Amino acid sequence: MPKPHSEAECLFCKIIQKKIPSKVVYEDEVALAFEDISPQAPTHLLIIPKIHIARLADIEQQDEVTVSHLFSVIRTLAKQYALLEAGFRTVINSGESAGQTVFHLHIHLMGGRRFHWPPG
Ligand code: 5GP
Ligand code: ZN
Repeated sequence: MPKPHSEAECLFCKIIQKKIPSKVVYEDEVALAFEDISPQAPTHLLIIPKIHIARLADIEQQDEVTVSHLFSVIRTLAKQYALLEAGFRTVINSGESAGQTVFHLHIHLMGGRRFHWPPG
């Protein structure tokens, strides 16, 4: 039996492997970014590592280079979508109570509208 949140059962691993289609907006050896299927803002992208890390809570020291690379991808995409000066919101939900529904680490990058604080 695969473990809960395991790679074998992971939706985003299947997206990485192109077994499930997605609108890819950025790809390199370490990271993939694609449009969220249910956008919450005019721009709503998901940036993910190509290695399977279930939650932010599961990041290990050996993942440091991968995770820091995700932040450089955020900046590249924010620039591409003209959000650097306009402003943008990034979100990482870790765990079910925080709203995480897909257990492969992902950073939401949203822009093109005004965001409020605190989030719900
Ligand atoms: P979470 O709730 O885990 O922080 O975010 C998961 C995100 O993945 C949600 O915003 C949801 O709309 C998105 N999502 C779920 N399934 C798919 C899918 O099959 N394709 C794409 N592109 N996005 C998905
Ligand atoms: Zn995965």
